[in-house]
Amino acid sequence: MIPPPPGQQPGTESVKAGVPPAVEVRDLHVRLDGVPILTGVDLTVAVGEWVTVIGPNGAGKSTLLRAVGGLLPAPDAVRLFGTPLGALRRRERARVVATVAQYPVVPPGMAVLDYVLLGRNPYIPPLGRESAADLAVVDEVLDRLDLTNFRTRELATLSGGERQRVFLARALAQGATLLLLDEPTSALDIGHQQEVLELVDRLRGEHGLTVLATMHDLSIAGEYADRMVLLDTGRVAAAGAPHEVLTETLLSRHYRAHVKVIPTPHGPLVLPTRPRRHP
Ligand code: ADP
Ligand code: MG
Repeated sequence: MIPPPPGQQPGTESVKAGVPPAVEVRDLHVRLDGVPILTGVDLTVAVGEWVTVIGPNGAGKSTLLRAVGGLLPAPDAVRLFGTPLGALRRRERARVVATVAQYPVVPPGMAVLDYVLLGRNPYIPPLGRESAADLAVVDEVLDRLDLTNFRTRELATLSGGERQRVFLARALAQGATLLLLDEPTSALDIGHQQEVLELVDRLRGEHGLTVLATMHDLSIAGEYADRMVLLDTGRVAAAGAPHEVLTETLLSRHYRAHVKVIPTPHGPLVLPTRPRRHP
């Protein structure tokens, strides 16, 4: 079983007085090679919430997720479930937050089972081996993600959708209750996109997971997110409910795109339109 996050049982109200947020970022500044990449970023994700970061290429979305996941030196500005990131040791951190990178490295020749077992590393003593309990967790996750038949398959032979499910499986096997998903569906067709996102949403409901994602397809992003954050050149340009962020004004200003936004019962539909041509 994946344990519930601190202070929360599965299925309970996501935002409760006194429960620290899953993610709290305050005035985050990140410089890479001397270049400012993120400037004064604030972000809060409540326990059980799904927040999606959008923004043009190079805006800093992946960098923000890396900072939240503890992969960049910015520990003071980030708290996870109330604990400063810098106070968590690497193995402790891995039990709290799991990242599915935009381009996960696929070790050549590795079978699905072995890859998902990597998620158990934070529980295996140094120089030790996985226990029966670790294998049981992995089997349960493979079953839940409909991957049992792929156990012995080489990861590289899987289709994009199957592989994406394996990446998620590894993150879930880690037992973390905060999932950071960097463009989890950009390599997938529309059916597999839906399958993966529905799966994440179902797991969120069943296990009280919190999701911080980045996505490029704005209409789909708006359908799944409780809230969205629009990032542009390393700064938060807008944040709020999908209908507050997915507006023609904001999208044309920050993406320099011609779009029509059509409200629907499922959320705003963002339609790219051709610029008017002059005769
Ligand atoms: P996004 O995910 O929004 O497309 P990224 O977070 O990947 O954006 O990158 C933001 C900016 O940071 C880009 O301009 C990118 O070139 C730059 N960047 C990313 N990694 C490094 C690095 N290691 N050194 C210098 N610049 C980097
Ligand atoms: Mg990116």
